[in-house]
Amino acid sequence: MKCLVCKHGKTQEGTATVTLEPANVTVVFKDVPAQVCTNCGEEYIDALVTQRLLRSAEEAEKAGVEVDIRHYTSIASPPLAKGGRGGIENAQRLPQSLGNPPQSPFG
Ligand SMILES: [Zn+2]
Repeated sequence: MKCLVCKHGKTQEGTATVTLEPANVTVVFKDVPAQVCTNCGEEYIDALVTQRLLRSAEEAEKAGVEVDIRHYTSIASPPLAKGGRGGIENAQRLPQSLGNPPQSPFG
């Protein structure tokens, strides 16, 4: 389709990196299918895809995550296993519980 921003370029199939901040969570989605303008680089993302991203961001928020990076391929196919948790690979975890600030024993 024709780009709505620069009105010169045309869009073609590509991928985008999308950052969502619905509430108290920031989720970065990589490899999101998008129409990308060949002229200005504007990214157009399908409404259905956006819905999936929002839902995934809500999951992250419920899990108590503040910042997360997800690949669209890992959320595109919802886990169908019954009673299944952990359908998504959770390789990236911030070491939040390791927060021991260095303190001098000499006060
Ligand atoms: Zn454009």
